[in-house]
Amino acid sequence: MKFNRVLLTLALLTVFIISCAPQAATLPVDDGANAPINITVSILPQKYLVERVGGSHVKVNAMVVEGASPHTYEPKPEQMRELANSAAYFIIGVEYENTWLDRIQDANPDMQIVDMSEGIERIPMVEHHHEGEEQEGDEEHEESGLDPHVWTSPRLVKLMANNILAALVKLDPDHQIDFEQNMQVLNADIDQLDESIKSTLEGSTDRSFIVFHPAWGYFAQDYNLRQIPIEVEGQEPSPQELVNIINEAKAEHSKVVFAQPGISTKTADTIAQEINGEVVLINPLEENWLENLQKVAEAFASALK
Ligand code: ZN
Repeated sequence: MKFNRVLLTLALLTVFIISCAPQAATLPVDDGANAPINITVSILPQKYLVERVGGSHVKVNAMVVEGASPHTYEPKPEQMRELANSAAYFIIGVEYENTWLDRIQDANPDMQIVDMSEGIERIPMVEHHHEGEEQEGDEEHEESGLDPHVWTSPRLVKLMANNILAALVKLDPDHQIDFEQNMQVLNADIDQLDESIKSTLEGSTDRSFIVFHPAWGYFAQDYNLRQIPIEVEGQEPSPQELVNIINEAKAEHSKVVFAQPGISTKTADTIAQEINGEVVLINPLEENWLENLQKVAEAFASALK
C-alpha cells in the first residue's frame, strides 16, 4: 500500500514536472520584435516606396483605393477603424489629407504622422494661359495653389526615400542596416530610371503635351517638357477655354490628348476629335511607381515627335 502511494506521488510529480517544463522554448517566441510595423499611407505610389525601403519589416496599407482620387477621397469607416493598428501614417501632401488629417490622428492618437515630402518645395499648379486675361489672372493663380503631385519626379522621390528611411529608423532602430541597404538598391533603381527616361525622351523635338488633369508638372519640370492642362482649377473648361485649348493643340501639331483612368475622358475625346488625334491614358497613381514612370516616359515619347 505504501509502495502504491509512493508510486502515485511519483506519477503525480512527473505529470506536474512535465506540465511545468519550459515547453515555450520549443515554440517560436513571439514578443512582437519580428512582427512587421503597420504603416498607413495616402496613395499607392507611397506604398511602393515605403515597401521598397522597409522590406519585410513593414506592412503598408494605402487609404486612397485604386481608381479613387486623392484630391477628393473620403475614407470608409472601416478604413478609419483600421488606423488603430497603424504605428505611423505617412502623408505626402495630397488634398484629401488637408480635410482628413485631424480625424485620422483622432482615430489613433498614438500613431505618428510622418510627412515624407518634408523639405520639398512645391511649384504652382499649371494653369491654362488665358489670352488677354492677364490682368485679372494673378488672383486666380493665387487661389489655384500649389501642385501636390510631387511623386512624378524621380529626383524628388529620392528626397522622399531619405525621409522614409529616417522615419523607419526611428520606428524600428533594430533594422536600420536593412533599411539602409534597401534604400541603396532603391536609389540605384531611381538613378537608372532617370537615365532611361532621359534617353527615352531624347529624340523628341516637340516638348509640349496636352493632358486633362495636370498631374505631371514635376515630371515636366525635370525632363524639360511643357504640360498643357485641359482642366481649369480642377474643373471642366468653359466653351471658350475649350476653343483656346484646341487652337493651342493645333498650333503645337499635337496628335495625342492624355487622360487619366478614373477621370472622365469626355472632354479629352472632344479635343482629340478636333485635332484628329487620340486619347492615351496615363496614371500617376499606379502602385509600381518605378515601372509606371518608365511607361509614362514611353507614352510621352511616342506622342512627341
Ligand atoms: Zn491629381
